[in-house]
Amino acid sequence: MHYISTRGAAPVLTFSEAMMTGLARDGGLYVPESVPALDMTDMAGLSYEDTAFRVMWPFLEGAFAEDEFRRLIHAAYAGFGHAARAPMVQLGSNHFLLELFHGPTLAFKDFAMQLIGQMMQATLAKTGGRVTIVGATSGDTGSAAMEAFRGLANVDLFILYPHGRVSDVQRRQMTTPVEANVHALAMDGDFDDCQARVKDMFNDMAFRDGVRLAGVNSINWARVLAQVVYFVYSAVALGAPGRSVSFTVPTGNFGDIFAGYIARRMGVPIERLVIATNHNDILHRALTTGDYVTDGVKPSISPSMDIQVSSNFERALFDAYGRDGAAVAALMAELKAGGFHISQGALGMLRDTFASGRSSEDETRATIRAAFAQTGEVLCPHSAVGVKVAEDFLGATPMITLATAHPAKFPDAVEAAMGTRPALPPRMADLFDRPERLTRVPNDLGVLQDLIRERTSR
Ligand SMILES: *Cc1c(COP(=O)(O)O)cnc(C)c1O
Repeated sequence: MHYISTRGAAPVLTFSEAMMTGLARDGGLYVPESVPALDMTDMAGLSYEDTAFRVMWPFLEGAFAEDEFRRLIHAAYAGFGHAARAPMVQLGSNHFLLELFHGPTLAFKDFAMQLIGQMMQATLAKTGGRVTIVGATSGDTGSAAMEAFRGLANVDLFILYPHGRVSDVQRRQMTTPVEANVHALAMDGDFDDCQARVKDMFNDMAFRDGVRLAGVNSINWARVLAQVVYFVYSAVALGAPGRSVSFTVPTGNFGDIFAGYIARRMGVPIERLVIATNHNDILHRALTTGDYVTDGVKPSISPSMDIQVSSNFERALFDAYGRDGAAVAALMAELKAGGFHISQGALGMLRDTFASGRSSEDETRATIRAAFAQTGEVLCPHSAVGVKVAEDFLGATPMITLATAHPAKFPDAVEAAMGTRPALPPRMADLFDRPERLTRVPNDLGVLQDLIRERTSR
């Protein structure tokens, strides 16, 4: 299995190489050359770990031995707080909530990050050498990465987060790990600024090679792949392949919903993939009008979705444009100047696959209140955006809405909506007592590169 860039001008890589590389050298994102069909016979009742092996193995070719990969999967999910890993609860007669928040940092990012931590460690142990991982986060990626990489012998991890724009729980999950190989950097600016500086570092080849830069943002193919698993697992739980399901996915960077798209391309009977956005609704507007135009990020109570440039959307565009890398490169150049128009043919393909909706701040709060009153389920604000949007698409096909974070990760927003404050699970109840360690940094590429060079030159 080989991996190619969405911009068509970077080296073709193996799975391990694509995982260690992150962003392609032409600025594009790696995608598999082809998507294998999933053998769905006898999947009912498989454990999460066995499902994960079945789904991911065909994409890995040669990266690990079979029993080694099984061990990595088990190690990745051993620290989860629920035996089912991704349990489902029912919200209504044909509406289900997939709880993806039972990992160590209480958000779905743990599913991919814990596994990529295991896979990178195993890969580096074989090839030798150190890597420097730099990531941007709107909150949850950073905490999940800190938790997955802290203390690993061959990795230095730097996480850039927008100063003052992440929740206290998210910040503390990034600033309280004591291990010297992980570094929390609070940057002036918003998430898009953080993501832009990380992309700049990857596009600076001398820097990139000098510190052996690797990426774990949701552009990393290995992360997308790990997320395909719970789409399959939950679809099978509701009767796939014999019965179709639909999904609604609270969306920011388009990584999670793109994993659903891969599950669909593998042959899982997924009728609709519904993109749910908050008032930062560029994806909803793009699908509605055909114009992908940025207009600045407005902070919301679902901060992990406060994004204008949805990086992984490029992967969907690549397929929508018939896998024409030059066409995608041209669109991305236009995006730098503010936006682009999606061609009629590409828009048709996207609309055949994806539907979309948005939830206003008031609607999100009302949904948190209503879900609690009607079902006793406490939703985080991101999950509430999903539930609100899903309600417009309920019908004969079972709808699975992804609950992307635990409500206790966003206690202020939940309390403002429903009057009670969700408690942290007991295993992390002392989070607010641990000392914090962070570095304030300006939105300045040179300053960031100097800091990273200095701290990795030990
Ligand atoms: C990251 C995140 C999202 C958005 O996921 P994408 O893959 O970026 O679309 C939604 N909700 C929560 C809680 C998140 O952490």
